[in-house]
Amino acid sequence: MHERSLVHRLLQQVQQIVADDGGGQVTEIRVQLGDLSGVEPLLFQVAFEEMVSVMFSSACQLSLDVVPVTAVCDHCRQQFEIVDFQFRCPDCQTGAVQVVQGDQVKLISINVNSDNPVEGVAS
Ligand SMILES: [Zn+2]
Repeated sequence: MHERSLVHRLLQQVQQIVADDGGGQVTEIRVQLGDLSGVEPLLFQVAFEEMVSVMFSSACQLSLDVVPVTAVCDHCRQQFEIVDFQFRCPDCQTGAVQVVQGDQVKLISINVNSDNPVEGVAS
């Protein structure tokens, strides 16, 4: 299952960040999930709950931000949301577009001991 390996990698990453930061109990992990990432939010949640109890000593909550797919047109630079996998600029109808958001799973923040957030962690 794709989600399981993703969650495992994510939790390892979190453990590493927290260890580098001096340790502590992780209470919340916020993850951005793109519509195009191929990850099923429900399966991700289930895998998370299963693994977090094994890998972490304390209870930890998962916050999932599911974001829409956003692309920018190479031709007119218009930014738009992709609906139904229509990779085409709504303005000039060109297919030369680039996805700028929504194609990845990204760690957004970690809460350690309830009020010590580690912000801006890159994936
Ligand atoms: Zn365009």
